[in-house]
Amino acid sequence: MFYLVVFGPPGAGKGTQSDKIIEKYGFAHISTGDVFRANMQEKTELGILAQDYINKGELVPDALTIDMLIKEVAKFPDAKGVILDGFPRTVPQAEALDQILAGENQKVDLVLQLDVTEKEVRDRIEQRAKVSGREDDQKAAIVERRIGEYFSKTIHVLPYYQQQNKVVSLNGIGDIDQIFDQISSAIDARI
Ligand code: AMP
Repeated sequence: MFYLVVFGPPGAGKGTQSDKIIEKYGFAHISTGDVFRANMQEKTELGILAQDYINKGELVPDALTIDMLIKEVAKFPDAKGVILDGFPRTVPQAEALDQILAGENQKVDLVLQLDVTEKEVRDRIEQRAKVSGREDDQKAAIVERRIGEYFSKTIHVLPYYQQQNKVVSLNGIGDIDQIFDQISSAIDARI
């Protein structure tokens, strides 16, 4: 099974490009943000625990997130590939993922980094807020907190994977289809 991490700040285009990867490659898709939001809507125990963090723009604690991810990964035993969108977001999450996959004789095959400037991310989230219905897109202070979480915690995941030679960095600003062509080439080179 091909494990693909789609990596980048909020608003980098991870969801948009994941949709295109699903369409072309038929991979399963795990977006930890989507899973949290679905749980919040259904008011599950996980949703209730996660919502205080999410609505403040903070990362959900690792233990809770990793526990959830283990259950999500187990849902796709026969997938050709799995896209991890929004996970891992901390080094302990990356380490836990390596352990989880090693237990299944699997590994992370590729980390696609969508490189986007902070200004672009702010502009995009401002536009998305008009249509996303996401509470955490609406207030500037929360958006800033999310961007801050990315640049203080999540960015350190990149050297973790660079040491393993797994990162392909792409300019995430530009034509969606042209970016996707580069993503396809990176996947095709490793699949
Ligand atoms: P996203 O939809 O990926 O932007 O995620 C929305 C929110 O869900 C984030 O701002 C975090 O509060 C939470 N979240 C999603 N994925 C993770 C993760 N891997 N670790 C911690 N929190 C997460």
